[in-house]
Amino acid sequence: MAKKQLSIDLDACIGCGACVSACPVNVLDMDGDKAKVAKPDACTECGACVDACPVSCITLK
Ligand code: SF4
Ligand code: SF4
Repeated sequence: MAKKQLSIDLDACIGCGACVSACPVNVLDMDGDKAKVAKPDACTECGACVDACPVSCITLK
């Protein structure tokens, strides 16, 4: 499995929801005031959420 791991630094997340809106395949969702990776298997590693996050707390590697 060469698939990259998507991770969110929840301490840094401000709950803006930009990543949820940015994801074309609905991998991300909100869990209260934090983002969560709801459907990791659906991630195409496009990087849109990483670019959309205003506090750069999403990493894909
Ligand atoms: S990398 Fe792309 S497909 Fe994966 S969660 Fe982010 S926006 Fe969605
Ligand atoms: S874009 Fe960043 S700060 Fe906003 S909800 Fe997503 S992970 Fe949190």
